[in-house]
Amino acid sequence: MTNQATMQVKLIDYARAPIEKLYAAFRTCYSADTPAETWEKIEAGKISRETIRDFIGERLKTGHSSPLEQVVFWFGIAGVSRSLSHQLVRHRVGISFEQQSQRYVRFKQDKLAFVMPESWSRAGLDAEFGELLAHTSELYARALKAGIPAEDARFVLPNAAPTNFHLMVNFAEMLHICDLRLCVRAQWEIRRMVALMRAEIKKVLPEIAVFLQPKCGENRMGYCDESLDEWRKCPLARVRPHKSVLFELYDRYGSRKARALGDEEFRAVEEKEQL
Ligand SMILES: Cc1cc2nc3c(=O)[nH]c(=O)nc-3n(C[C@H](O)[C@H](O)[C@H](O)COP(=O)(O)OP(=O)(O)OC[C@H]3O[C@@H](n4cnc5c(N)ncnc54)[C@H](O)[C@@H]3O)c2cc1C
Repeated sequence: MTNQATMQVKLIDYARAPIEKLYAAFRTCYSADTPAETWEKIEAGKISRETIRDFIGERLKTGHSSPLEQVVFWFGIAGVSRSLSHQLVRHRVGISFEQQSQRYVRFKQDKLAFVMPESWSRAGLDAEFGELLAHTSELYARALKAGIPAEDARFVLPNAAPTNFHLMVNFAEMLHICDLRLCVRAQWEIRRMVALMRAEIKKVLPEIAVFLQPKCGENRMGYCDESLDEWRKCPLARVRPHKSVLFELYDRYGSRKARALGDEEFRAVEEKEQL
């Protein structure tokens, strides 16, 4: 049997008063008040929680997203595979990672833990998976004993090897990660991890968590922009439209017709007075 690693996702902390910070950041753009005056009103309770929530909700429907970078979360993540970690670290904006090192950590368990996808059990190949990884564990331990440094011994470790992260991510990037990684096109393990990150935020900040959806969600882009074939296979297709359907409706029921942008349209956007 494989010694299975268990995924753990914990919201360690978030920057104080995130909802108020979002409100004050957006407000600063649209108000004659200084930020300090806005904060005085917030702290004196002159602006209700509901007003703050509604105002933020309206702003989140627009493309004005830079205030979302002022809200920050810290997560502790453990027991995820190196397959997952390679995908996670591709996110490069608004996120910062510390990852457990395979150079400095000498894994000393008799039998190393690994992440095994359920598909291996469903295919009846879990025992062989376990045997191969037990052999890998043994060879890794022998390598360390023979004086091979951990940074070289790790060359036998597979994608299934577990790893840990301490990461910091802002709300704008968390939304983007959910757009991509809660979509069923994303790999199951990273989808599961991001779902747990969302659940952690939901426990403490439900007002913010409602926006953490796959990109087709009603609080995000609202439609699927993946291929039509992928959309047809998706369980969310029951409730979220594909972009081609929106174009069909635009053509069928709108007073206008979608077509490629031509010289006329470019002239219209170039003539700034008209905008
Ligand atoms: C379903 C799926 C399949 C994938 N398959 C593959 C694959 O086969 N091979 C592969 O290599 N990768 C693959 N990826 C990874 C993907 O290409 C991205 O590297 C990853 O999703 C990180 O997202 P991001 O580029 O939006 O980066 P983030 O850092 O999350 O980007 C945040 C935002 O900043 C923008 N941004 C970031 N950097 C720049 C920049 N330099 N210039 C302009 N804008 C920028 C992004 O466009 C985005 O809007 C896949 C991802 C998904 C979700």
